[in-house]
Amino acid sequence: MNNKVVVLTGGGGVLGRTLAIALAKKGAKLAVLDLRKEAAEKVAEEIKQQGGTAIGVSADVLSKKSLLEAQKEIQLKLGSCDILINGAGGNHPKGTTSNTHLTLEDLENNESDFKTFFDLDSEGIQFVFNLNFIGTLLPTQIFAKDMVGKKDCCILNISSMNAFTPLTKIPAYSGAKAAISNFTQWLAVHFAKVGIRVNALAPGFFLTDQNRALLTDAEGNPTKRGKTIIEHTPMGRYGEPEDLIGTTEWLCGSGSKFVTGVVIPIDGGFSAFSGV
Ligand code: NAD
Repeated sequence: MNNKVVVLTGGGGVLGRTLAIALAKKGAKLAVLDLRKEAAEKVAEEIKQQGGTAIGVSADVLSKKSLLEAQKEIQLKLGSCDILINGAGGNHPKGTTSNTHLTLEDLENNESDFKTFFDLDSEGIQFVFNLNFIGTLLPTQIFAKDMVGKKDCCILNISSMNAFTPLTKIPAYSGAKAAISNFTQWLAVHFAKVGIRVNALAPGFFLTDQNRALLTDAEGNPTKRGKTIIEHTPMGRYGEPEDLIGTTEWLCGSGSKFVTGVVIPIDGGFSAFSGV
C-alpha cells in the first residue's frame, strides 16, 4: 500500500471510514470522498492525527462534473489514483415495501406511510438504483482512466448479500447490488489487458445508519427483521466494520495479484445457511 493513492467514495460513512483509516495505516494516501464534506474532512483529519496522509474531498458520485473536479483536486494534492473503492451507496425508504409478503388485507390498508409493491414509485426505485449502480459506474469512468498504463492498480466495489438472493422489502437495493456484482465481473474482463483488477466485497449485515431503521426500533431494540437476520447468521451476530479490513487489504494488495472478478461474502456464514 505504500504511497498508493486510494480514492474511497462514501468515505465519510461508517464502513468507508473504517476502511480509510485501515488503508492509511498501511501507508496509502487517502482521498476520502463524500457528498457530506464535513464527514469526509472529519475522517481525513482522524487519519492525519494518526500520522497518515489524507484529504477530505466533497463530491457527488452521481455527477460527472463534480467527480472531475474532485479528480483534479486529488491529482494536485496526492497524485493520480491507484486504487478506487466504490463505497458510496445504500438503501432508501422510497424503495422499500412495508410487508414481506403481500396479503389481501394490505390492499385495504389506507395508512399514508404503508406501502405495498403496487405503491412503489419509479422515482424512489430510480434513486436507489442510481446511487448504487450509476454511483459506481461514474467514479470508475473517471478514476480508472488514471490507472491505465500504471502498475498494481485495482478497483473494489461494494456489493451485498442481497445480490445473491434478494432480501425481502427492498427490491430496488437488491436489484442494484446484483447489478454491482455483475458489473464487477464485466469490468474485470474489460480491464484485464490494461492490468486493472476489479473485485467486490459482499458484506452481510452491519448495523449502520442506512439500515438502522429497518433493524432496530426507536428504543434501539431489534425489530423482527433484525432478529431474523441474527437467527440466519450462523456466527450469531452483526458484522463489525473492522471485519471488512482483512479482505479489503488482500484484494487491494499484491497478495491477490491473480484475482479479478470475484465477489467475496463477508457475512458470518449467512449466504451458506439455508435456514434449516
Ligand atoms: P453509510 O450510509 O454510513 O455510508 C455511505 C456514505 O455514502 C455516506 O457517508 C454518504 O454521505 C455517502 N453518499 C451517499 N450518497 C452519495 C453521493 N451521491 N455521492 C457521494 N457520497 C454519497 O453506509 P455504510 O453502511 O457505511 O455503507 C457503505 C457501502 O456498503 C454502501 O455501498 C452500502 O450499500 C454497502 N453495504 C452496507 C451494508 C451494511 O450492512 N451496512 C451491507 C452490505 C453493503
